[in-house]
Amino acid sequence: MLTYEQARQRVIEQIGEKKGPRGTEQVRVGEALGYVLAQEVKTDREYPPFNRATRDGYAVFAADAKAGATLKCTGEIKAGDRVTKELWAETCVQIMTGAAVPSGADAVVMIEHTKRDGDEVRFERAAATGQNFVPRGSEARAGQTLLTPGMRLGYAELALAAQVGAAELKCAQKPRVAILSTGDEIVPVDSIPGRFQIRNSNSVSLAAQVRLAGGRPVLLGNAMDREDDLSSKIRRGLQEDLLVLSGGVSMGKYDLVEKVLREMKAEFYFDAVAIRPGKPAVFGKCGEKFVFGLPGNPVSTMVTFELFVAPAVDLLSGAEARALPIVEARLGEALEEKPGVTHFLPARMEGQGANLEVTALKWQGSGDVAALAKANCFVVVPVETEKIETGEKVSVLLRRELL
Ligand code: AMP
Ligand code: MG
Repeated sequence: MLTYEQARQRVIEQIGEKKGPRGTEQVRVGEALGYVLAQEVKTDREYPPFNRATRDGYAVFAADAKAGATLKCTGEIKAGDRVTKELWAETCVQIMTGAAVPSGADAVVMIEHTKRDGDEVRFERAAATGQNFVPRGSEARAGQTLLTPGMRLGYAELALAAQVGAAELKCAQKPRVAILSTGDEIVPVDSIPGRFQIRNSNSVSLAAQVRLAGGRPVLLGNAMDREDDLSSKIRRGLQEDLLVLSGGVSMGKYDLVEKVLREMKAEFYFDAVAIRPGKPAVFGKCGEKFVFGLPGNPVSTMVTFELFVAPAVDLLSGAEARALPIVEARLGEALEEKPGVTHFLPARMEGQGANLEVTALKWQGSGDVAALAKANCFVVVPVETEKIETGEKVSVLLRRELL
């Protein structure tokens, strides 16, 4: 059986081959969070466009502003002021953060290091050439490419696009991800379930995970555990860029997802992974479309999405598959697990830096959504590990959206 790393690698290899989005769309910069860029963004001018003061103080010739020197202040420059006059030797000009340093001046002295008496400014420390301003063009040259196709747009990238005047961005269309739950016991979330029925929480968590991964969820509801219903809804799902099913992939008599997919001539790249929860996870291709069959227990569905579906959504968006957000922390409470599979245990991590401490939560297994809602991460117990002692270092898979 594949390890989770091998299974992830299969997903990346298979989808990587036909990597790239279906098409592009124009998106306003303020709406483009989480999209993948499909154009270059270049600067429209130099950055900064002038020598920009980074402190409130006085623009000077560094050679004039020696410790104890007194210079005459000849005026002031605010952010946004047009600066035409040069600085004269043996004088200074009051200047504000963000304002243009007058030509000739080669330093800005912080106001905190001066004393003012009328027009006279006394300098308490010697100025150093180049201090407290950012030289014109030092952040970026005019016409320089700053953002490239394939980059994911976060708030900093959006700010940069906005700064250089890219009000609209050509972005990769978000992949459309069909979500189909399965199970005779599943009822819509807005209904009152019978005693032995279960509300369809997986479609809700999957849609949220698809959005976080940068895809567009297409909700197809629920298929009954019957071949006819499954195959017609799977066919519908295969019209989208990617199909994700939940449930019906274990060994039960009514777990028909794999059977139906096989009858539809699907090929499979894996149909089990050495993990818990999530062991029966399935990944294959049906016609031209990739399909995931995730186990239906809610925590299994969530974990297997993070491990296997998230990189698929990245690749179908035209971006690189993001690495799993795994960090190290010290274990707060010893734990024991059966070897042979990698365990992902819902856990809480607290603290910072070298003091990060993580403790697995008590839970009732992969159906326990209440436990997961208390968790902010998973402790990753490696395949061959049986016991981890308190204080030992462990790997922790973070819940991405809570970072
Ligand atoms: P399965 O993988 O179909 O054997 O389902 C495993 C467990 O997950 C069963 O207890 C199901 O009731 C539960 N389950 C399956 N699908 C969903 C769903 N869409 N929402 C919530 N729970 C589900
Ligand atoms: Mg089922």
